[in-house]
Amino acid sequence: MPLIVQKYGGTSVANPDRIANVANRVMKGVMDGNKMVVVLSAMSGETDRLIRLARELSEPPDPRELDVLLATGEQVTVSLFSMFLRSQGVDATSLLGHQACIYTDRAYGRARIIGIDTGRIKELLKKGRVVTVAGFQGVDEGGNITTLGRGGSDTTAVAIAAALKADLCEIYTDVDGVYTTDPRVCEKARLLDRIAYDEMLEMASLGAKVLEIRSVGFAKQYRVPLQVRSTFSNHPGTLVCMEDEEMEAIPVSGVAFSRNEARVSITRMPDRPGIAVRFFQPVAAANIVVDLIIQNTSVDGLADITFTVPKADLPKTLEIVRGVAQEVGAGEVLSDESIAKVSIVGVGMRNNAGVASRMFKALAGAGINIMMISTSEIKISCVIEDKFTELAVRVLHDAFNLENPPPKRAKF
Ligand code: ADP
Ligand code: ASP
Ligand code: MG
Repeated sequence: MPLIVQKYGGTSVANPDRIANVANRVMKGVMDGNKMVVVLSAMSGETDRLIRLARELSEPPDPRELDVLLATGEQVTVSLFSMFLRSQGVDATSLLGHQACIYTDRAYGRARIIGIDTGRIKELLKKGRVVTVAGFQGVDEGGNITTLGRGGSDTTAVAIAAALKADLCEIYTDVDGVYTTDPRVCEKARLLDRIAYDEMLEMASLGAKVLEIRSVGFAKQYRVPLQVRSTFSNHPGTLVCMEDEEMEAIPVSGVAFSRNEARVSITRMPDRPGIAVRFFQPVAAANIVVDLIIQNTSVDGLADITFTVPKADLPKTLEIVRGVAQEVGAGEVLSDESIAKVSIVGVGMRNNAGVASRMFKALAGAGINIMMISTSEIKISCVIEDKFTELAVRVLHDAFNLENPPPKRAKF
C-alpha cells in the first residue's frame, strides 16, 4: 500500500470550509488505497497574530515561552481537521510534534530536527488511521517545545516522509507549483513541471518562500520525491528532483528576490591581518548570519568593508560592530535597510558563459544600479535599491526569456 505524506499550508486551512476541502482531498487519497500522513500549518495569519500578541506583553518575548505559544497555531488546525474527518467516518488521529516524537535541538524559534521516532505514527497507520501531524514544532531532549522557524511545516512534512521512506511527499499551497519566479510579482512567471533539488535549494535560500530551505535540504539528502501543487486546483504541479541533461542545458531557470536583508558598511578600517576577524567573530558568535561581503582597499593603508545581514539582526549587528570599530580605530559605521537582493539561478550556469554580463546589462538597461554582487556555481545575486525590486525581477525574467519553455532537445 503506497504511503503518502501531504502538507497543507496556512491559506489551505484558513477557515472551516477550507479545512473541509482539504479533508475531501485526503479522503480521496484514502479511497485510492493509500496510507496517509497529513501535516498541517496554522491558519494563515495565525502565527503572525501570536507573535504580535506576545510582543504586546514582552519585547523581546522569552524564546522558550514564545515557542510554546506559537505551537498552538498548528494544534488548532490538526485537531479541527481530525475532528472533521472523524465526523465523516474516517478514522483520524492528531499528533503534536512531541507526540509524533519529532526531536530537535534547543534553538528556540529555529530548531533543527535531529531525529524522528516513527514508532507511534507507524502503529497508527497500521491500524488504518489517517495520522495528522502538527507542522513546525518538535521537542528537545529536555521535553521543551520548540519551533522550526517560519515556513517550518514544509520541513516537518519532508522529514517525516524521509523517516517513513514515504513513496511521495506532496506540498499543497496556494499556487500551482514552483514558477520561474514569484507569480505574484511577475505575471509572465511560468510554472515549471520539474526543478532540480540544487536549484530549489538556491531559490529557497534566496527568498522564494514556496518551499522552506531546510525541507529541500532533507528532500535532497534522503532523495524524497517532492511534489509542490495547489490545494485549489487539480494541476499536477512541480516535481523537485535530481537534475538531468535537459535542465543543465538551460543557463537560468528562475529569478528570486529577498527584501529581508540590510547593509552595513565600516569605513576606513586599518588594513592589516586580523581586522576582519575582529568584526566577524563576535557577529558569528551572536548567531548572526552574514551574507554578502565586499572589501575595498585604498592606497592610504585603509579599507572599507560592506556586508549584509538579516534585517531583524541589524540592531544587534550595529551594536557589536560599533564597539569593535571604536576599539580598532575605524571610521564610520553606516547602515541601509532599503535594499533588496535579486538573484538568478540555474544548474546550467556551470557550463554557460556570459550569464553574468547578460544580467548586468539587463539591470543597467532599466536604470538599476548594482550595489553588491555575489556569485556561486549556480547563482548570481545583486544587491539593489529596494524600490526597484519588482522591476528588476521582471527585467531579468524577460532577459533570460523565462516566459517561454526551453526548446525540447533531441535525444540520442
Ligand atoms: P504556504 O502557506 O502554503 O506554505 P507560502 O506563502 O509559504 O505558502 O508559499 C507560497 C507562496 O510563495 C506563493 O503564494 C508565492 O507568492 C510565493 N512564491 C515565491 N516565489 C515563488 C516561486 N518561484 N514559485 C511559486 N511561488 C512562489
Ligand atoms: N505557521 C508557521 C508559519 O507561519 C509554519 C508554517 O506555516 O509552515 O511560519
Ligand atoms: Mg510556506
